[in-house]
Amino acid sequence: MTDQHVLLEPGTPVNLENCHREPIRTPGGIQSHGALLAADEHTLEVVQASSNAAQHFGRPVLGALLADLLGADVIEPLRARAEEATPNLRPLRVRGLDVYAYRAADNVLVVEIEPVGPGAASLTRYQEDVARALTLLQHAPAVDELLWSAARIVRDLTGSDRVWVYRFEADDHGVIVAEEKREGLDAFLHLHYPAGDIPPQARALFLQNRLRFIHDVQTPATPLEPLVNPLTGEWLDLSGGVLRAVSPIHIRYLKNMGATASMSIALSVGGRLWGLISGHHYSGPLFVPHEVRATCELIGIVCSMQLDALEQLEVSRRQTALGTHRSAVLDRVAASSSILDGLEQAGEELLAVCDAEGAAIRIDGDLRLVGETPEDVAGILDGLEGADVFATDSFEGPMPGVLAAPLAVARGNHVVWFRSEYVHEIEWAHAPKSLAVKDPDRLNPDGSFRTWAESVEGRSRPWTTAEIESVAELRSALGTFLITRAEQLAALNAELARSNEELDAFAYVAAHDLKEPLRGISNFTTFLVEDYEDALDAEARERLATIHRLSQRMASLLDSLLEYSRIGRADLDVTDFTVGDVLEDALDLLATKPAITVSGADMPLRGDRIRVRQALVNLLGNAVKYSPDEPRISVTARDGVVCVSDNGIGIAPEHHDSIFHVFRRLHARDAYGGGTGAGLTIARRIAERHGGRLWLERSVPGEGSSFCFTLEGD
Ligand code: ADP
Repeated sequence: MTDQHVLLEPGTPVNLENCHREPIRTPGGIQSHGALLAADEHTLEVVQASSNAAQHFGRPVLGALLADLLGADVIEPLRARAEEATPNLRPLRVRGLDVYAYRAADNVLVVEIEPVGPGAASLTRYQEDVARALTLLQHAPAVDELLWSAARIVRDLTGSDRVWVYRFEADDHGVIVAEEKREGLDAFLHLHYPAGDIPPQARALFLQNRLRFIHDVQTPATPLEPLVNPLTGEWLDLSGGVLRAVSPIHIRYLKNMGATASMSIALSVGGRLWGLISGHHYSGPLFVPHEVRATCELIGIVCSMQLDALEQLEVSRRQTALGTHRSAVLDRVAASSSILDGLEQAGEELLAVCDAEGAAIRIDGDLRLVGETPEDVAGILDGLEGADVFATDSFEGPMPGVLAAPLAVARGNHVVWFRSEYVHEIEWAHAPKSLAVKDPDRLNPDGSFRTWAESVEGRSRPWTTAEIESVAELRSALGTFLITRAEQLAALNAELARSNEELDAFAYVAAHDLKEPLRGISNFTTFLVEDYEDALDAEARERLATIHRLSQRMASLLDSLLEYSRIGRADLDVTDFTVGDVLEDALDLLATKPAITVSGADMPLRGDRIRVRQALVNLLGNAVKYSPDEPRISVTARDGVVCVSDNGIGIAPEHHDSIFHVFRRLHARDAYGGGTGAGLTIARRIAERHGGRLWLERSVPGEGSSFCFTLEGD
């Protein structure tokens, strides 16, 4: 760090090069329309004074007592005023003068004396002015109107020839955004002023002492005597007062602009100097009395509060608008099969998320473009490194006008928005100091104030905080989408696999272990009937027969269950065969041989022939079971699809799904020859184990049904 920010010793001559280090709080003098006395707080003896004070009081002041100069009656009230927090000094009106008091350092009581303005008599008028002004400010619907109102009010109150509002931009240069002026003056509106025009220490002081009043640019400052305060050994800090002398550089600046008096009021938002309400007068000194200054200061404060509120309102309106576009994009993504498609289809809405002109989406190598995009989009995306949302309006680097939301940097997945270069002209009130140094002709403020147009290139419109936040929001919403979709699928698959395995294991164990005792029961009842036939009466025999029948039935249920679980567990023994081959196998197994018409018998199939046979047996068996006495069954094979159709009872639409549930039957147990309700479930599972599908192609009650299956995925 150099001495860039260290203030110069008081009294050091200042110039354009070092004015940013000028100790403006300790200028060693005051504006000449007033007088200053600095006294020992305890003894009240004057130890330092402005050189005009003696003339003002008509007697020497150094060494005199404050009470003798001002009157004994004002000492206590003055002390009380000095205890009040500065700034916003309130003067005591003493014998036609405004007298201010503040403590400039430990033990140093400073008294500043200023004339009372001509208008000060009419206090009620000011009160009315204040009320009217505040109402105007309060009702301004937007920032722009607020600032124009403020400029008008301050001009009305002060009578300045020109009042304007400066807004400081991110790089601290100022732009004039509102202006009220006397007729005949050139307009300053929209002119830009270099940041150096108001050096940093002056900006800092504005946050503390919100109003700067320069009564007369032409008359030189009045020095303090002695320059060094005897009590502190230092130059007096006048930053809390109203008379502080103006920097000679600033005086030159004002003179170059033709100003003869000036006043500036701070506008601050969130502890930052937002801008200034400034006034210039061109026709000689302009005395703005305390009451008017106090009113202007109040206007600055109210205006700042309104600015804060309106800016927040504007930001939140903007956020809401961007949020609406974001929701539209997310709806689109939710409704489409992939994030990539969804974002691309969102089109204009995607661009509106941050008011971009183009966008690019790349997910796993698949790149989609929306709107106007630069040439080498892929290259730009490849260059993105960080995982954070990234924004630049610069066209100098490799990322021209880019607002990027990385989704997964390692995989090169990004959503990126683009803005084109925004070439425009800025009109400067005068050349910035850096240029002035290079080009002495433009030397300023010594040089003339001719305006100077700069063509701004190499930048896009800047991305606002709301826009960057909007993109960040969209990204996190998409992130949740990505995660939830992937996670949901993974979790679902894992869950399914686990429950399938458990079910298979359970079904196998249950079916396997139950079969033995069941066979025992069945056999035992058979023995009972055979061996004790004579001893049993008709009712007992009937009961035993029921037990036998039920256990048989249970055995067949267990067989189905066992079969079902086996399909899930056993490996497939895959071979090649034709539909005709396996159909022949199946017909061998069917108890009743139906009449079947076959087409596509030589269509090749590849799979576990025994399992496929089983599936066919189940379908054919059903076709026979659920058909009239003369079933007409057809098997057609084409393009890898095998269908079994019948002219049977058909299935009502509401049962089209449930028939595939295990052990689900639509009829009484013994109707249509009975069944366990597992046949279709098993057949479907066989198809699926092969990677294929089995479905009900068509079924109309009373007309017939058609079931189809494939063995390979389609
Ligand atoms: P089930 O052993 O009862 O036949 P399935 O799982 O094979 O069990 O079939 C389930 C139910 O689907 C059957 O009870 C029956 O109601 C209906 N169904 C199956 N195939 C046909 C068909 N071809 N025609 C009419 N209904 C059928």
